[in-house]
Amino acid sequence: MDYDVQEIRKRFPILSRKIEGKPLIYLDNTATSQTPRSVVDAIVAGYDDFKANVHRGVHTLSQEATELQEECRRRVRDYIGASSVEEVVFTRGTTEAINLVASSFGSLFPQGGEIILTVMEHHANIVPWQLLQSRRPDLKIRVVDINDRGELLLDQYRSLFNENTCMASFCHVSNVLGTVNPVKEMIAFAHSRGVPVLVDGAQAVPHMKVDVSELDCDFYVFSSHKMYGPTGIGVLYGKKEHLLRMPPYQGGGEMIAHVSFESTTFADLPFKFEAGTPDFVGIGAFPKALDFIDEVGMENIAEHEHGLLEYAESRMREIPGMRIFGNAPHKSAVISFLVGDIHHYDMGMLLDKLGVEVRTGHHCAQPLMQRLGISGTVRASFAAYNTKEEVDAFIAALQRVIPILS
Ligand code: PLP
Repeated sequence: MDYDVQEIRKRFPILSRKIEGKPLIYLDNTATSQTPRSVVDAIVAGYDDFKANVHRGVHTLSQEATELQEECRRRVRDYIGASSVEEVVFTRGTTEAINLVASSFGSLFPQGGEIILTVMEHHANIVPWQLLQSRRPDLKIRVVDINDRGELLLDQYRSLFNENTCMASFCHVSNVLGTVNPVKEMIAFAHSRGVPVLVDGAQAVPHMKVDVSELDCDFYVFSSHKMYGPTGIGVLYGKKEHLLRMPPYQGGGEMIAHVSFESTTFADLPFKFEAGTPDFVGIGAFPKALDFIDEVGMENIAEHEHGLLEYAESRMREIPGMRIFGNAPHKSAVISFLVGDIHHYDMGMLLDKLGVEVRTGHHCAQPLMQRLGISGTVRASFAAYNTKEEVDAFIAALQRVIPILS
């Protein structure tokens, strides 16, 4: 593979920063990735050259801004293999997209309906369903467990389906364990029982090629900021047949066809779900992040990250007392770990003093922490621009801080 990581790094100005006088080693990519200059330039151009509200004006600037936004929608449609732009709804992120589905699609659930989730979900794919349940106490949430490697118990998953099951919602990739779930089979099984599926793709889309038509999922959600794009925007892909039936999530400008005090009618898809002024500057810049991924090649990125994962894990396993949470054979480049009885916060704070930025805590997955019997982990995660030398520096930093904290 011809992979010039130094060339890639040059596109990310932040990577030349220093932390505590040490070179920045950014290993918190699961929380958010860094942003290439091309995306930042597009954001600046959005303000400098194109800023006008979208879909509202006949004037040139508004038309240009609208065209940028709709160009992004076409790009996202092609990028994820959706069949139409009507199926691509812009949101504030994964979280808002799941809230939209839980609130709107959830309002159509039958009495006594059951929703299947998994124990490895991010809070973003738990709490919206609980909020729905608080309005609809007749609904039940059923939860799929994991095995010791951090893989879903698929037999249990299948056994949870019954005549009341009305929804299954699970992550494509766990943000803690890195497990890549066999979502295609899980979706096919749900469909064989007539159950629609939402896939939380926040941790998948930045690291692998995703084709929603091939997966045949009903909903697929993700955030731009985790895939080298701007903050504050995300995507809800939904099958048109569902989106057409769903009531609006929020009301306001742009989502209406006609408003009167007697009755209001709603705009066509996807605008019915896009109330108010969107982050059109961010949306306009998002295609530059997709360009970056395409230029480097998603397969190359995946191979590079996988190499770093294997190398880092093999070196980490040499450290006495090391416990890695998530050992599925099919795993993304996320390593959650603890060493002996060192507290994850202490470890994170000392690593920061050495320039190594890792995440510590429950990673918005408290039910999973409870399942693992721990309060949190340290988590290192890789992206296209991380290097083997950074892994070495990370391991050296671990070797320095462990004796201090033990
Ligand atoms: N789902 C998963 C699996 C995640 O990892 C995250 C963020 O870490 C989210 C949902 C929430 O994403 P956002 O905060 O961008 O809405």
